[in-house]
Amino acid sequence: MIKLPCADCTIAERLKLLNASTFAFIIVLVVSNYGQLLSLEKKIITLQQFQGFVEDVLELRRYEKDFLLDVGTNNIEMIHKYLARITVTVERLDSQLKKLSSPEDYRTFIEAMQHYRICMKSSERGSIVSGECLHRYGRIMVEYATAVLEKKKAGLEINLKTILYTFTIVPAALVVLMIWGLFSQTRSVLNRIAFVQKATQDILRGDFTPIQDTTSTRDEIHGLIQSFNKMAMELDTKTHELIQAEKLAAIGTFSSGIAHELNNPLNNISLSADMLLEDLDLLSRDEIKEILQDILVQTDRAGAIVRNLLDFSRDKEAQVQEIGVRDLIKRTIKLIENELRLNHIHIDTWIPDNLPRILGDFQKLQQVFLNLFVNAIQAMPDGGLIYIDARYEEPGYVRIDVSDTGEGIPQDMIKKIFDPFFTTKEVGAGTGLGLSIIYGIVQKHGGYIEVSSKLKQGTTFSIYLPAVGRKEDETEA
Ligand code: ADP
Repeated sequence: MIKLPCADCTIAERLKLLNASTFAFIIVLVVSNYGQLLSLEKKIITLQQFQGFVEDVLELRRYEKDFLLDVGTNNIEMIHKYLARITVTVERLDSQLKKLSSPEDYRTFIEAMQHYRICMKSSERGSIVSGECLHRYGRIMVEYATAVLEKKKAGLEINLKTILYTFTIVPAALVVLMIWGLFSQTRSVLNRIAFVQKATQDILRGDFTPIQDTTSTRDEIHGLIQSFNKMAMELDTKTHELIQAEKLAAIGTFSSGIAHELNNPLNNISLSADMLLEDLDLLSRDEIKEILQDILVQTDRAGAIVRNLLDFSRDKEAQVQEIGVRDLIKRTIKLIENELRLNHIHIDTWIPDNLPRILGDFQKLQQVFLNLFVNAIQAMPDGGLIYIDARYEEPGYVRIDVSDTGEGIPQDMIKKIFDPFFTTKEVGAGTGLGLSIIYGIVQKHGGYIEVSSKLKQGTTFSIYLPAVGRKEDETEA
């Protein structure tokens, strides 16, 4: 590729340079054309003089002919008159005549003129003028005069052609050069803008990878790329914070369920401990052991609930691993088990044993399903059914459908539900971020989402995630 001059300049500087060079070029063109026209004018005047020179020589010869044929009265005076005129013209055009003819031809012409004059002199002395003498030298003079006139004309033609070229070809070349300069500038700017545009679309898909500016140009686009990268980094951090906040908000919505779930084992522990305290002396060793065992089981249960909750809410570094869909769904349901019970919602799953695993971040994918479950619970205030159906789908996806029997979503609203901050819920019940976060996470995992809904019948969210070769039951084995 041809490297443009001023490759390190900004676009504004390059445009200025292009304008300045065009302006300078036009000035040079105008000045040179003006010079050409002036010289052309001079040449035309000289050509007229040469034309006059030839006409004088021809007139001389006409009077010479009349004189020899003895026609007319003042032929001798006219011949002398023309000889004098020719002599003056030759003196005036001397330098040009020398340039246009060889020294030998010039000399021959001057000698011919002198001989012609000498021939005519005999008429003054009353002797007979030799016709042959006049004829010979007159012919040499005509030949010379017409030859130099032709040469002068040819020179003028070249001059005219040069002016024609500088008036047409040079400006045309200049225009082509300018168009090429503008075109390559525009192309380079557009290419790099397209690059930024693509990166913007990547950001919409949740990919915050900074743009690598491969050119060394430090122009406005470079500045734009720098600012874009800063913005992408900032967005990445903010999105991360948002995901974390949304996660905590989701936990907040089912906190009563969690409290309830924790309360059960704690109650059991308290009851068992009470019983132990009151009847310690009456109980056999085996019975005491059994109650202590029960306390341990209940403690484990409470511990598991807290661990599960902590695992989910902790802000961990993304960790990509092979994940079994059944395990993922089971552990997510665990987080909301009590919430489901409190809201009279039954949950059913159908996950085949031979379902391929998926590759991703467990915590993030858990958040996807938790948000879907929370939305489904909120869409069924009077209870209902959540149905999870997973299957393999060509080409290489695991599809997980999460369906509910809730209020459904109006068709005209479906295209808005993934927009950040879009919510139909009351203040405090929804942030409008759940689905937009799900969308970002699924996109980042190389998958996509589909939604279908019928008012008063329910909604199905289908999550497609790329499958990896190994089946879920293979590890379990
Ligand atoms: P939020 O739940 O905080 O409102 P989301 O982004 O999760 O935000 O959801 C956006 C909107 O999509 C909800 O306000 C609701 O109107 C609609 N929606 C999401 N899931 C369901 C569902 N399962 N049934 C009915 N409407 C739903």
